[in-house]
Amino acid sequence: MLRHLLSEIFGIVAATGAGLRTPGSADSALIDDLVAANWILAQQGVIDGFGHVSARHDKHPDRFLLARSMAPALVTAADIMEFGLDSEALDARGRTPYLERFIHGEIYRTRPEVQAVVHSHSPAVIPFGVVEVALRPVFHLAGFLGAGVPVFEIREAGGPATDMLVRDPALGAALARTLGDAPVALMRGHGNVVVGGSIREAVFRAIYTEVNARLASEALRLGGGRVVFLNPDEAAAAAATNRAQIGRPWELWKEQALAGRR
Ligand code: MN
Repeated sequence: MLRHLLSEIFGIVAATGAGLRTPGSADSALIDDLVAANWILAQQGVIDGFGHVSARHDKHPDRFLLARSMAPALVTAADIMEFGLDSEALDARGRTPYLERFIHGEIYRTRPEVQAVVHSHSPAVIPFGVVEVALRPVFHLAGFLGAGVPVFEIREAGGPATDMLVRDPALGAALARTLGDAPVALMRGHGNVVVGGSIREAVFRAIYTEVNARLASEALRLGGGRVVFLNPDEAAAAAATNRAQIGRPWELWKEQALAGRR
C-alpha cells in the first residue's frame, strides 16, 4: 500500500515536475536502431545527402528522436536530438535541426500508432508523384501499398510558389492529412514519406517502396501500361505475412551498412 502510494506520488511529480521537458531518457537500443536505420537507408539508396528517419520516444510518446541536419550516412548517436510534437528541439545545444522536421512531428501527432517515419527523395518513386499512374504493388513484398498511395500536392496547402519543402507546422499538418491512415504518401515533385509501427517496419517499407516503384516502372514500360498488380486481398494477405519477416532483411541490411563503414 505504501509502495503503491509512493509510486503514485512519484508518478504525479514526474508528470508535472521540472523534469517533464528534460531530454536524454530514450532507450539506448532505440537510438542504436535509429542510427542503424540512417546507415541502412543510405546504403540501400533510399536517402543520400538528404532525407531523414525518426523514431517516437519510447518513454514520452509526445516526443520524437531525429538527427541534426546532416547526411544520414554520417549520423552517430551524438547527433540524435529530441523534439516535441511541435517539432521544436528540446536539446538543441547549438545543433541545427532539419528544415523538414515538421513532417515527423505532425505525423506523430495525428497517428498515435506510428513509431517511426522516413522522409526521402528515393528516385524511382518520384515519377509516380508527377503522372496520372498510381503507385501500386507489383510484387508481394510491397503488399503494404495495396490500400492505395495518396499524393501530397503542396500547392493546395502552400500556394503556387513554395520551395517544395515541408518547412512549417501547417504544411506538415497538410501532409499528415493527405497521408491519412496509409503507410506511404508521395510528395509531388519532391519525394515521399513512409511510416511504420517500428523503425524496422518503416525501413522495410521505405526500401520496398523504392524497389516496387522501380519494378512498376519497368512493368508499365514492358506492358505498354497494362500490368497485373496485386489485388487488394492479395496485397493485404502478403503484407500480413511480411510483417512477421521484417527482422530478417533488417539484419542483412544492418550488416551490409556496417560493412560499408569498415
Ligand atoms: Mn525533402
